Amino acid sequence: MIEDKNQQRTSLGNLGEFGLIEHLTHDITTAQPGTLKGIGDDGAVLDFKDKKIVVSTDLLVEGVHFDLAYMPLKHLGYKAVVVNVSDIYAMNAKPTQITVSIAVSNRFPVEALDELYDGIKLAAKSYGVDIVGGDTTSSQKGMILSITALGEANAEDITYRSGAGETDLLVVTGDVGAAYMGLKVLEREKEVFVVNPQNQPDLDAYSYLIERQLKPEARQDINGILKALELKPTAMIDVSDGLSSEIIHLCRQSGVGCNLYEEKIPVDPQLINVCEEFNIDITTVAINGGEDYELLFTIAMEDFEKIKANPNFTVIGHMTQESEGIHLITRANTKIPLKARGWNALQEE
Ligand SMILES: [Mg+2]
Repeated sequence: MIEDKNQQRTSLGNLGEFGLIEHLTHDITTAQPGTLKGIGDDGAVLDFKDKKIVVSTDLLVEGVHFDLAYMPLKHLGYKAVVVNVSDIYAMNAKPTQITVSIAVSNRFPVEALDELYDGIKLAAKSYGVDIVGGDTTSSQKGMILSITALGEANAEDITYRSGAGETDLLVVTGDVGAAYMGLKVLEREKEVFVVNPQNQPDLDAYSYLIERQLKPEARQDINGILKALELKPTAMIDVSDGLSSEIIHLCRQSGVGCNLYEEKIPVDPQLINVCEEFNIDITTVAINGGEDYELLFTIAMEDFEKIKANPNFTVIGHMTQESEGIHLITRANTKIPLKARGWNALQEE
């Protein structure tokens, strides 16, 4: 991390655990009508009336899921919330509350946690969720951050991974692959920076990719757009591990196969340029990269008319009988079995 010498450093020990929690949470207010009691008692009290409750948890570990050398703490806090609310949107539900648990070693000053919490609070505001609880404790080494998101939905609106039919169309929002290449760019710049700290990287040509990595957004707009189109996906998942992994999840849980068409996969022009610069295959990145936080879903064929003119959606394939398997159909019209390589495997290449 680039240390600013003028930056104030207050040791965590100065505040103590209760003092720290009070310091980090004193300005947190709640806005959801269902939050009857937020932070400040032994437990939060929530009222979901006749809605179903959707719950999702993510655990982020320093050195495994994030590297503070190029991930500013404010961005980390923001992203940790995004990752969780994205899972709630993938259930076609509306996120309403989060809890935040953090373990940190004493190498972090109070100011660092303030920064982290600024990001968490900003994301909570932008996604309309209340921070209603959590815990802060010390760790021997590094930082661990766990967020749990709660959301609500009508029972009939919830989309599972298991509902895809054999003739359904496969649809993705936005574009994929950019977050992974953003990470590649940041990793390269970190190496350059270590060699020569005076070297200020010029990252203009990579701005979209870096933003997708450092400040991803969950698709909070999609549930509303689908509702307005009177369209309920038959199955849905968010793209966190990579398009191919997510397609395999949908297929396995729905008992169907899939043909994914290489030429249909939506990628940003900046991704194409940077993949050429890095000499990396664009499709490999687009299907294995991950961390895009787009939504991937299936729809009945007869619903195609509802989405066909909509710029938010791209039809990238169709489901098949399970016995046909899960394949990528390349531009050269060859059929390659799709493998769930995901994030880690790609890094090992
Ligand atoms: Mg997910």
